[in-house]
Amino acid sequence: MASQQCPECDGVEFYSREVSAKGGYGPDLLPGTGWFFSAKFRLCICARCGYVKWFVPERFLDDIKTRGKFQKMS
Ligand SMILES: [Zn+2]
Repeated sequence: MASQQCPECDGVEFYSREVSAKGGYGPDLLPGTGWFFSAKFRLCICARCGYVKWFVPERFLDDIKTRGKFQKMS
């Protein structure tokens, strides 16, 4: 992972882990079943201020682009 800087506090110490996209930790962004049921988010948490960044892991990005569940922003 490239060096990161927190947009809130300029901290550079982050902790990350992958969490299930449904239930448990993450918000229920896509209710119902479907491909996202088994998908994961990667959380990055600033160790200084607690700022959280969410990422969709790269392996799911093709699905984001091709399955038609998300609209491309212009
Ligand atoms: Zn921070």
